[in-house]
Amino acid sequence: MWRRKLLSPLSAILRRTLPSASRHSLDSTLQTLLSASLSSFGSLCGEYESRAFTIRRFHFLGNLKFPAENLRSKSVERCWNCNSVAEAAPFLVCENCRSVQPVDYAADYFQIFGLEKKSQIEVENLEGKYKNWQKKLHPDLVHSKSEKEKEYAAEQSARVIDAYHTLANPLSRATYILKLEGEDADEEKTISEPELLTEIMETREAVEEAADSQALSQIQAQMQDKLEHWSRSFATAFQSRNFEEARTSIQRMTYYKRVNEEIVKKL
Ligand SMILES: [Zn+2]
Repeated sequence: MWRRKLLSPLSAILRRTLPSASRHSLDSTLQTLLSASLSSFGSLCGEYESRAFTIRRFHFLGNLKFPAENLRSKSVERCWNCNSVAEAAPFLVCENCRSVQPVDYAADYFQIFGLEKKSQIEVENLEGKYKNWQKKLHPDLVHSKSEKEKEYAAEQSARVIDAYHTLANPLSRATYILKLEGEDADEEKTISEPELLTEIMETREAVEEAADSQALSQIQAQMQDKLEHWSRSFATAFQSRNFEEARTSIQRMTYYKRVNEEIVKKL
């Protein structure tokens, strides 16, 4: 029954539903419709089931599950092998005995790349620093090392990759920097503003009905504008430590990013 209902345009359902609904039931109706549209969107496209949608979503959000130890670890200050004092943070290789060091979880992702902890960064600069790390952690450089050190190098490498992907993307960067302040981004919080819910559903409907790639690209450009707008809003809110507003910006970015992902799948 739901499925048949969903096959009619969502905005038509909304138009039928909205005028007579009270404020409370209007919110819950919209939320029900939205969650139904989110889970059925994939199967309507015929490409993926809601489970795949969830997996993909979590794949994207995978970088957001930051290790808790990151926020409470003590930094690695001495070489595990010769006890020399670490000369640089994060401590990768001991200058004295050349031993590869374990991951320093106290160094946050910004420190890994020597970047100032702020929400807007130059991605080109980040890419250059990431490439330098890749050279330092190249498997050829550790092939003659002990198994323990090879393991350390692999862990270092995995962490640098996580750090790069988290910081390169405006949404995951925003979520991460908020978390470093001890604030939960709450990006999965249900949106309850009818205006925004209507906009999201109409956009999804437009994506489903887009006749060609040109139409999809147009919607994609709009989503990109919205993402950039809310990314700037986040930066302003974060700078003034208005974490409530920062969270709102993250929730908006999360929704626009998802629509964008659906468009990419169809292009
Ligand atoms: Zn050493």
